[in-house]
Amino acid sequence: MKLILFGDIPNWNRSIQLLQTYRPDIFIAGLSSVSLGQFASSSVTYTPEETAVLYRSHQIDGVINIQGENPYYFRLLKELGIENIYVIPHTLYQKLELSKSIDGDAILYPYKEVLPELMQLEFHLADHCNLNCKGCSHFSNLVPQPVFPDKEQFVRDLQQLTGYFSQIHDFYLLGGEPLLNPEIGVYINTVRKAFPYTNLIIVTNGLLLLSLKEEVIQMIKENRVHISISDYTCLDRDKIISFIQAHALSADLREGKECFSKYLNPQGDSDKEQVFANCIRRNCTFLAKGKMAACCQPFVVHYFNDYFHENLPEEEGIDLYEPGLTGWEIQKRLITPMESCRYCSADVPFDWAMSKAPYSKDDWCVN
Ligand code: SF4
Ligand code: SF4
Repeated sequence: MKLILFGDIPNWNRSIQLLQTYRPDIFIAGLSSVSLGQFASSSVTYTPEETAVLYRSHQIDGVINIQGENPYYFRLLKELGIENIYVIPHTLYQKLELSKSIDGDAILYPYKEVLPELMQLEFHLADHCNLNCKGCSHFSNLVPQPVFPDKEQFVRDLQQLTGYFSQIHDFYLLGGEPLLNPEIGVYINTVRKAFPYTNLIIVTNGLLLLSLKEEVIQMIKENRVHISISDYTCLDRDKIISFIQAHALSADLREGKECFSKYLNPQGDSDKEQVFANCIRRNCTFLAKGKMAACCQPFVVHYFNDYFHENLPEEEGIDLYEPGLTGWEIQKRLITPMESCRYCSADVPFDWAMSKAPYSKDDWCVN
């Protein structure tokens, strides 16, 4: 079988290595990517359009989408008329990383024969926060009292998701401040059980890190949880770094990466297609109360509405219990603009700062 490998350039090598090791019968006829960059003039690289020509003229049998989690790539290939699309399950790479055997696995699957993969999923362990960042995009500084999720619902929802997706690449437990949730261990266990090979990540402001109980630290390590710490100026970096090293935790301090911006348009007259196409949050897939959406906004904007007496759409999303729903249908809807997108606008960045009540609508709104 002659196939072209399609995906982001940094991922080419590991796919080639995997195929050469486990499927030497596959002939890799070339490499393709949305942007070929420095490899554009190579004799073995093809633009997606050139790949489609090779497919239509039967010079190749199909394309391997090496990023099966990327619904935009599937859409592009299908729009180009390429029907024979194959995927390499991401769990194989994870198993190899954990030194587990993948002998006997077919490695390459027609995409329709496997459940789709999800790029990432975010879930709030607490809507509220112990910081008051100006213009918090999850509206955590507007949450009037502690709000924790429903544990049983979360267990049910994850069970439901295992019927739709074979893998979730990155699973973020965040908030608000996730370490405020005293039952954080239950959530970690639930995710790890449902998706054994997901990258499980806690996103925290770090303020409670030093007071984590020993049993929680052990659970974090046993479940291969990474801790991503927002490096706000109020943090004692040296103490945090010593703590991480002392406990041999997998963690990163996101230095200078915190990018705050305001983008709401309460008039709701934005072009949703255009705003969605340029939105940096459209892949921050969010789970709440049995629903999923492209971002958290539909599930947390009620805090903004309540505080400022506004009327932005609430609870818009994909009902995970809708009869007949499939993972592929979820993927399709996640890359379709929502009504909520009419209430967003182009981002206007600003420097991180603390805020305090009474809050100003200007912290979130561009007009
Ligand atoms: S730490 Fe994060 S969640 Fe908390 S207020 Fe700041 S931006 Fe929002
Ligand atoms: S509602 Fe739409 S445009 Fe606004 S942040 Fe979410 S995905 Fe982006």
